[in-house]
Amino acid sequence: MTNAETVPAILGGQPVRPSGPPGWPGENAEVAAVLRNAASDNSWGKYHGPHCETLKGRIQKLLACEHVHLCSSGTAAVELALRGVKVGMRDEVLLAAYDFKGNFQDVLSVGATPALVDIRADDAALDVSLLSGAISSATKAVIVSHLHGGIVNMPAVMKLAGECGFAVIEDACQVPGAIVYGRPAGTWGDVGVFSFGGSKLLTAGRGGAVFSDRQDVMQRIRLHTHRGNEAYPLSELQAALLVPQCDQLQNRNLRRGRNVRRLKELFAQEAGIRFLETQDAASESAYYKLGMWYDSAAFDGLSRDVFAQAMRHEGIALDPGFRSLHLIHSRRRFREATRLAVADSADTSLLTLHHPVLLGDETALIEIHSALRKIRAHATALRESKSIPRDE
Ligand SMILES: *Cc1c(COP(=O)(O)O)cnc(C)c1O
Repeated sequence: MTNAETVPAILGGQPVRPSGPPGWPGENAEVAAVLRNAASDNSWGKYHGPHCETLKGRIQKLLACEHVHLCSSGTAAVELALRGVKVGMRDEVLLAAYDFKGNFQDVLSVGATPALVDIRADDAALDVSLLSGAISSATKAVIVSHLHGGIVNMPAVMKLAGECGFAVIEDACQVPGAIVYGRPAGTWGDVGVFSFGGSKLLTAGRGGAVFSDRQDVMQRIRLHTHRGNEAYPLSELQAALLVPQCDQLQNRNLRRGRNVRRLKELFAQEAGIRFLETQDAASESAYYKLGMWYDSAAFDGLSRDVFAQAMRHEGIALDPGFRSLHLIHSRRRFREATRLAVADSADTSLLTLHHPVLLGDETALIEIHSALRKIRAHATALRESKSIPRDE
């Protein structure tokens, strides 16, 4: 190897992937055909047409679920789900302190208060064993998200919900098509949600869906959104783009799953990187982001953020995880329902690998491993370097 190949790209060397990470969405012949058809039959610009109904049918089949309501985003879907189970003023909603920020904001948007619960140290998912101690007399619902390849223990959540009488909103935005304790992700709760945002596994740039077997929940959602016209619509064109992606989902999930297993093999001897592992061997997660715990001690004290930055310069789409919710919101906005020690460390120690590379081949996985070894070999130099901007 030449010197330029062994020096980290962030210090001026040659990147492992000079072309950068694969883009998303990628080329998709079926989606291109949909666009051509929409241009020729003018369905691209019409209020109504067949595509939303076709998409609903695909989602119903994927989930074996009765009712689907399409909407404008995953964030809108979570808000609608909260309204659907009648969360309102003075209610409390439990959620993990490590979760998508929009979920916290959605709880506020319906006038309720988020009550934050700690996560597990293995898979960074909501720690269900803490839930019963976190409940208060105001608890009306829990939002449960399957994140970064982790899977929440839904049978345990549903058992407690049945005993205590709170509703369950299951956020499957990151895991469409995953199997959670034997059922499609999103179908354990009273109501489930998907996102079709521009980075997601099923994408139309924007969009979302709420689904449930409960007629009363869906009726409240329809009453809220239908105002002579839909207030949070998904367009016919968006729906048309999603139909072929639903048909491709299972094969793509299988491919991503295989590549995740292979990547874990490649990383097996690498100290300081620990993948989030699902607790239930029979569950099969889906991978929007592949999460991992980073231990800076195994990298000569190199901070997580600089490590991720250096990997991105190598052409690997590795990013810090979410900020933990209790650290980015005023204490007046939420109740700390348990100690949040693991969520504290998640805030500074989680990394996520973005999914497009997981549809790639073995070479792409080996490149991720090469980049990691290169950064490790230069960890001390990177830690001490004065030329790396720390706040990218
Ligand atoms: C992306 C995402 C959402 C929201 O989806 P948008 O369509 O971007 O509003 C909600 N929850 C989780 C876990 C997500 O990853």
